[in-house]
Amino acid sequence: LDLLNFRMPPLSRITYASKPIKGKWEPKIRLAEDAYVELEKQTVIHGLRQCKTQLFNREEFIGGQQELAKEGLVFLPIKEVGKFNAFTHFHTTPERGKPSYIYGAIATDLSAANKFAVASAGQTEHQVIGKLLGYPECCTKFFIDNWASGFIDPVWQQYMNLTPEHTKIRTEHRIRARNTLAPETNSLLKYVGVRIMPHIPCSPSCEASLNIAKDWVKLGRDLKINGIDEMMELLSMPVEWDALNGIGYISTPIFKLEIGTVTCYPKYVVQREGTFYPKEAPAGLKFPWNEGIKLMSPKNAQ
Ligand SMILES: [Zn+2]
Repeated sequence: LDLLNFRMPPLSRITYASKPIKGKWEPKIRLAEDAYVELEKQTVIHGLRQCKTQLFNREEFIGGQQELAKEGLVFLPIKEVGKFNAFTHFHTTPERGKPSYIYGAIATDLSAANKFAVASAGQTEHQVIGKLLGYPECCTKFFIDNWASGFIDPVWQQYMNLTPEHTKIRTEHRIRARNTLAPETNSLLKYVGVRIMPHIPCSPSCEASLNIAKDWVKLGRDLKINGIDEMMELLSMPVEWDALNGIGYISTPIFKLEIGTVTCYPKYVVQREGTFYPKEAPAGLKFPWNEGIKLMSPKNAQ
């Protein structure tokens, strides 16, 4: 996969299959997103990892830190970054007079947050940063290698690493993954905030990532965090990612999302079969809508 010589702005736009589907699923997506945000913090509180990163609006900075203190957490500011409205793969330098975020590390103690800040300043200690954030070594290495080559959203490379038993179709420009993959390893809905893993897995069949995801789900269930069921339903749906000239589409039975992505040519396609197809979603002849022709049960949505 070769890149063209430009970068897309971080943009995304969602279109639901119908108004009733939007009415039902938009709140579920928000719940799943909130559950993940809560888990990001709870995994630090409960020692599943040492740090998480955080962006604060200036107006929320003081109140936000006081809230963290109530939960035994501290925030160490690291730098100011330009404000963005959607999912982004990279931070930009803030322009003078334009809104910005304060970026930093949250931990249960300042020494862990400081380790993160020192490693970030060096810009070479990615493995240290990855370890503090609870990422597997294989996935940190995968991320460094791809980022260095300009692949800010390495979806194609992830699925190239898919093991043969989970691969149904593999051609030069298209990979189809079987529904034997655990829904936890689905990172294709990260653009709408629906995810269970904090990192980009080196492969959807990465065992280390699946173990981490399972620990996160277990913690979420133990803490009775609302939205875990919705998250698992969403991650169990069939989904397609395609990219051409920097414009990508994420297609699911209930919505289609336009995203700024890798500037590749020709079109690259990743398809991930699902185990759950919402009964109200339309069926169609093309993937993923053709999966709606035979209705599936949410057996993995537990
Ligand atoms: Zn990995």
